[in-house]
Amino acid sequence: MPPRQQFQAFKDDFFLKLSQNNILRPWLSKFGLPTPVLLDRGTRNHFAVPPLAGCSVAVIGKQSGDSSHAHQTIKILTQLMSTKLGASVECQENCNKVLVDATWVRSPLDVSSLALHSLRSLAARKLKHGRIVILSSYTPSDILSASLSSGLASLVRSLAKEMGGTGTTVNMVVVRVAPFTLSSQTFASIAWPLAFLLLHESAFISGQKITVELGAGSSGDFCAWLESLTGAANNDTSRTLSPAAEGKLLIGKTCLVTGCSRGIGAAIATRLAAEGARVLGVDVPGACQRLTALMEEVGGTAFSQDLAEEGAERRLRDFVLAEAPAGKLDCLIHNAGVTRDRTLRRMTAEEFEQVVKVNLEAVLRINEAFGLPSHTEGGTKSQLGPVLLNPLGRIVLLSSINGIAGAFGQTNYSFTKAALSGYAHALATVLSTRGPPGITINAIAPGFIETDMTRRMPTLGKFLGRRANALSQGGYPEDIAAATAFLCCEGSGGVSGQTLRVCGLNAVGK
Ligand code: NAD
Repeated sequence: MPPRQQFQAFKDDFFLKLSQNNILRPWLSKFGLPTPVLLDRGTRNHFAVPPLAGCSVAVIGKQSGDSSHAHQTIKILTQLMSTKLGASVECQENCNKVLVDATWVRSPLDVSSLALHSLRSLAARKLKHGRIVILSSYTPSDILSASLSSGLASLVRSLAKEMGGTGTTVNMVVVRVAPFTLSSQTFASIAWPLAFLLLHESAFISGQKITVELGAGSSGDFCAWLESLTGAANNDTSRTLSPAAEGKLLIGKTCLVTGCSRGIGAAIATRLAAEGARVLGVDVPGACQRLTALMEEVGGTAFSQDLAEEGAERRLRDFVLAEAPAGKLDCLIHNAGVTRDRTLRRMTAEEFEQVVKVNLEAVLRINEAFGLPSHTEGGTKSQLGPVLLNPLGRIVLLSSINGIAGAFGQTNYSFTKAALSGYAHALATVLSTRGPPGITINAIAPGFIETDMTRRMPTLGKFLGRRANALSQGGYPEDIAAATAFLCCEGSGGVSGQTLRVCGLNAVGK
């Protein structure tokens, strides 16, 4: 971790600082207290190209006959990692990035075998800052396959809890397809989710499952693009890459981020700009100075607007029509949110309604003004009208793990945040059949993140909030920004309608 980030982490969380002390650590353990390790988030502010260049990734799976499915999978993974993603694939003792092939699992005893051989040996190695990603497949129409997939997801969560003490994350990429056939084309949809979960930047994501639809979206373009960069990196003079484009995944994209004068929104705006995007930033008039300063810093354009105000969606639409090339966005990030916590019996109508207006109604109204429906109009199959998003557009909504689990004193907030997850799931289905091609919508559910919103919490609440996850510490706005950038890339075309938890595997939620 760079010194500045480490300084901030220790300033925010004194217990985290204490637990790095080699004399104190054993004592903390003796009293049954957690001893979190400071997470290794890497030092970059944008994804490298190729994403896993210079990394060693071990690929392990069932070693059987050459023609087996597992062997074929590993062969493709190996090719992709070594030729396209540029990593060497070696099963070294000190290699802490491990890809586990579980696509061969067909029965409960196969899962036992996977756990007792591949996964147990990994658990015994006590990887520090490790990244373990399990690749599995799932046939929705097959009952046993669905059952094993849910079971495996829970096994992953349990293992993530066991390994979190060393800063290691365990996640799963599930390929939803029937029957499962891997080709270099379909593999394009899996490559980027796998790579992201193997990177430093996913340090605060653990115990999660990302489901990938093969052939959905247009991740094929991502592969072609990656190939062209790799070609350029290999001194292929016919493909020259401008220095500015090097290592940037969102060059030429226009992204609108709401509520981005501070906290998570500011980190998202900064990250998207670092990936090469042009940012249109929105926040309340009271935050105008901060917003303008940030937009100047990242070369973006500021727009002051209270999103809860009547007519806000029309003004935002006019702003996009005037500012975005051809009046269309590539990424729309609904980040603005508020809390007004109080038990329901004491909560005023104003407190409840304010949260509903900002966190949910504003999102629905803006999306409708941008051409995205809130109703399926009796299930009509006709194409949607004009949408203010380009093909391959990305919509990301900021939900919350409290939305998933429910939280004391947050009936209003939980309602709105869970509604966003449900909305993403439902709208994804509509977009996949009736929208401009390749648009995805996903939600991110942050856990305890160190921002002004959580700094206002009482000291004990903050202490418990930080320790209530497998990594025993709070996340940073940069963790959410990295996940947002991941979802905004072309390579995540196969991921839609999902809620990605970025919470260190918090105890709350399901
Ligand atoms: P924050 O309070 O620091 O920032 C929220 C931003 O939204 C502010 O810039 C604020 O001015 C803006 N905003 C609020 N009302 C607005 C309105 N009516 N119109 C336009 N802008 C408005 O919050 P944060 O911690 O950075 O959270 C960002 C998002 O992440 C929120 O949606 C929040 O619910 C969600 N979230 C945060 C956490 C956390 O631990 N911090 C956890 C889960 C979810």
